[in-house]
Amino acid sequence: MKTYIIKCGKLYDGKTDVLQDKMEILVEDNRIKEVDKHVAAPAGAEVIDLSDATVTPGLIDAHVHFSFGDWRTRSHDAIYEAPIYKGMYALYNAKKSMLRGFTTIRHCGCNCDDGYSVVVAKRLLNDGHFVGSRIVQAPHYVSTTRGHGDFSQLIMTNPKLSTYIWENYPGFGSGPDMFREVVRRQVKYGADFIKMFASGGFNSEADGPEDYTFTDEEMQAIIEVSHQMHMKVASHTYSPELAYKQIGMGIDDIEHGALFNDPKLLDLMKQKGVHFVPTFTPYESVIKLDEDNLRKQTPGMQRKLRKYQEWLMDARKVIVNSDIPLGYGTDFVAVHNPYEGGWEYNSMLTSGVDPFRALAAATRVNADILSMPNDIGAIAPGYYADIAAWKRDLLTDPHALLDCYFVMKDGVVYKTEQDI
Ligand SMILES: [Zn+2]
Repeated sequence: MKTYIIKCGKLYDGKTDVLQDKMEILVEDNRIKEVDKHVAAPAGAEVIDLSDATVTPGLIDAHVHFSFGDWRTRSHDAIYEAPIYKGMYALYNAKKSMLRGFTTIRHCGCNCDDGYSVVVAKRLLNDGHFVGSRIVQAPHYVSTTRGHGDFSQLIMTNPKLSTYIWENYPGFGSGPDMFREVVRRQVKYGADFIKMFASGGFNSEADGPEDYTFTDEEMQAIIEVSHQMHMKVASHTYSPELAYKQIGMGIDDIEHGALFNDPKLLDLMKQKGVHFVPTFTPYESVIKLDEDNLRKQTPGMQRKLRKYQEWLMDARKVIVNSDIPLGYGTDFVAVHNPYEGGWEYNSMLTSGVDPFRALAAATRVNADILSMPNDIGAIAPGYYADIAAWKRDLLTDPHALLDCYFVMKDGVVYKTEQDI
């Protein structure tokens, strides 16, 4: 059993919205044992001096797609790369994100047509065969045929090949019974939660963010069967109209909500305890009027981002001015690669989100969203020894979470990306 005393210059503990000066953390094995001004050093304890840095809990990204390699080739890779390539990329992304201070991620579905690659990656990490972030995952997108998740649309000019891909993916189809079966299989083979593609999107050629393809009966069936098995359901949702409908059905978690320009909707979500992960980053180029970045998107995405620009900008203000707890999710590989978690902090701070609200998002709010509120997202006795440290000023520098200075996961210290 390894024991460490970590001396913190400043400490954000994930529980209270302050930076505490000169605190010490006692780590025993893979858990935090004590946090105080001075902790008594047990014999053999190793001292880690972070007195020139700000220490936080290991951070959490609640919305990534870990089975992609590079965001610029994601559509090509979805169709043409081998399933094993996608599964192994999850291991690569897990390592890279951990070395950047994001010690837990939630994988929101993939297009691994052999199924369950990320379940296997998670098992290999948990067994200690590889190192990387802890993974909470939904193996497959659950989507209707032609829904936003149906990536066989990428080659719909070739119906024979497109149908072959569609048939081999476990999450696509139509009808409440079909979706009951899909959800049961996801859980049977290791899902931690269910991810539903309810709205269309920006990142797809054939549909738009106001479209939705499930019938009420299909959505209700997914939610009902998931809840029977104590699974939360997270939904990719854009329009307020669809969100109201889903809240009435008992949805647990709404992702994106980039068109939520209705303050009453956010109040209702808060009152009902519906989690909200707004994933600011993918819409930055149009909200922040960055033409250079916008031109890097696919033609279809550029067209849609421009079409919805004003609505996106209005909704961003409504979300920032609301008091719903915000989750922290990058939606990478939408833009940037899946391990570059610090970009969402930049998006939040430059949109006017208070830094402590953004830090809470990446720690205690996300811990709750991942159903791990007593294990991750805080530096307090009993929590996993998942700890990061940063040299830049977290309260003033939007790029602060892009440069991780120190990382420990499960009580083990790793060289950060800056060191290797
Ligand atoms: Zn996503």
